[in-house]
Amino acid sequence: MKNSSQLAQSEKGRRQAKQGVPGGMRGGGKAGPTGPVWPILRRLLRTMQPHALILTGVVLAALATTVAELAPPWIIRLAVDRFILEGQTARICWAAGGLLALALVQGGVDFLRLYLTAYTGQRIAFDLRNAVFRHLSCLSFSFYDRARTGDLMSRVTADVDVLNNFFGRAAVIVLTNLLTLVGILGVLIAWDWRLGLAYLGLLPLIALGMWAYARRVRPAWRRVQRQLATLTATLQESLAGILVVKLFGREAFERERAGRQSERVLQANLETARIASLWMPYASVVMGVGTALVLWVGGQNVIAGAISLGTLIGFATYIQMLLRPIRQTGMMLNVVMQALAAAERVFEVLDTQPDVQDAPSAYPLPPVEGRVRFEGVSFAYDAEAGAEALRNVDLEAAPGETVALVGPSGAGKTTLVHLLPRFYEPQQGRITIDGHDITRVTVQSLRDAIGIALQTVFLFDASIGENIAYGNPHATQREIEQAARVVQIDDFIQSLPLGYGTPVGERGVRLSGGQKQRIALARVLLTDPRILILDEPTSSVDAETERRMQQALGEVRAGRTTFVIAHRLWTVQQADQILVLRDGQVVERARSTPEQSAHQALVAAGGLYRQLAALQFQTETLGAEGGAE
Ligand code: ADP
Repeated sequence: MKNSSQLAQSEKGRRQAKQGVPGGMRGGGKAGPTGPVWPILRRLLRTMQPHALILTGVVLAALATTVAELAPPWIIRLAVDRFILEGQTARICWAAGGLLALALVQGGVDFLRLYLTAYTGQRIAFDLRNAVFRHLSCLSFSFYDRARTGDLMSRVTADVDVLNNFFGRAAVIVLTNLLTLVGILGVLIAWDWRLGLAYLGLLPLIALGMWAYARRVRPAWRRVQRQLATLTATLQESLAGILVVKLFGREAFERERAGRQSERVLQANLETARIASLWMPYASVVMGVGTALVLWVGGQNVIAGAISLGTLIGFATYIQMLLRPIRQTGMMLNVVMQALAAAERVFEVLDTQPDVQDAPSAYPLPPVEGRVRFEGVSFAYDAEAGAEALRNVDLEAAPGETVALVGPSGAGKTTLVHLLPRFYEPQQGRITIDGHDITRVTVQSLRDAIGIALQTVFLFDASIGENIAYGNPHATQREIEQAARVVQIDDFIQSLPLGYGTPVGERGVRLSGGQKQRIALARVLLTDPRILILDEPTSSVDAETERRMQQALGEVRAGRTTFVIAHRLWTVQQADQILVLRDGQVVERARSTPEQSAHQALVAAGGLYRQLAALQFQTETLGAEGGAE
């Protein structure tokens, strides 16, 4: 985390961002207030620190370039005053040779300067990209609930790329130009202090233009970046949800939505172009004024004998040399302003603190038996809004027990199981595992003890074997196959031509929902957790898959404390405990006894469970009851 912590240093930004997801990450198109420039710039420059050695090389090369650039007018002045006007032909040849040699040296130094700068830019971009992604991967669920994936992606790629442009190009050009401006001043003062004064008179005009320009172009760039991020987020959503789009025939709507957003990007870009286009005319006028003044005042001075002809020509050449820095300054200000806007967005991510973190004195959870207790647990997703998703929940699961959670949709079942691995932090009450308060142990060790198989299974674009071994990359092929056998998917995988090496995902084999579920179970099994959280699929499956799933689940649950969000009759019949939730509260509960299962007890009680069971398991009753022991 070296770089990430180095980068995440602005205390103020940190405090601001800590409250949750900064508005910008929701991908809103509004350009918020822009922060002060200096702190961002300082922090950006601090990211260069690890590359100090190469940067010293860059500065030396920039100095050498400046000297090589400033020398020719001096040589010309010498050639005019001493050699040409005095008719020294041989010496003119020497002066010409000197100019040629300088040009060659400048070429070589330029190569070094440009390559080293590009190298530094790429390295810094690399570090930043990694730091942002590393940080993103540490952020809590509550952050992802509110952030838009596309917007985050654009921060890791597009914004970091802008910073690459800043470090890899703009920074050194700005430095070289500054050196040139100061260098010219030095030479002119050395020649004649009046020339120096005349030159200094031009600088405020340039500075004024730069200031006015920067003030306008910075918010404009910020708008461009925000609109671009919103466009990325919109496209990402449309493409990720293409199935739904097509299903409801909303292609035209999505096209129009993306088109509108693209139009906003266009307008924002055009606005920056309008501002940028004003810069060159302004610079040309300033240059024209400067050159005319030089000729007018300088010419009179030469006639009066106050300065030499060579000095006037040298001075005029220097004034012409200003054109490049001025012209580039406009462009570079663009890049710098763009970089500031991008840096704000990148730092915003880095400054966001995860809600769930290790306590300062956190210790690793030792091996546990799996006794889980919830004591008076209350939780609201938005603590300020106050609507509680869970209210005063108490429960105790003995090691190895299966607890089935039942209730209407939105009752809080998922929320309840998500509190156990600390995806979210309850506002009241506490949760313990074998007596260890889960907020006192390290998050990593807590999650190591818990396995989760969710209803929607996410498979990575990798082989089946790699997907199964995702939670335990050191698992051997034998262990992977063993896990697959337990969940009844080994024979199917073996029947594929590439077996465990078969790719899944876009370019690979298409798996059914039931197969994906079993792969997810095998994945959990490989991590050998003491505590298991299962979210049963709601969709009905054919009898054969159902039978296999039941067998798989039975094997996986054995010896583990298991929480199941139950949708199947078979599961509730097997449960040691059933909790019925409604509106975030446990409204009914029962424990199996040798005489009566929890399911039977709750059906007999005739409350909400009975109604739910009648509705939910109705279709299954006939077929499944026969299959269940
Ligand atoms: P269940 O799993 O029983 O269907 P949930 O635990 O998913 O219920 O939801 C309980 C309540 O919390 C619901 O009112 C739901 O709208 C709300 N909720 C669930 N997830 C979030 C979230 N990520 N952010 C805000 N509210 C949420």
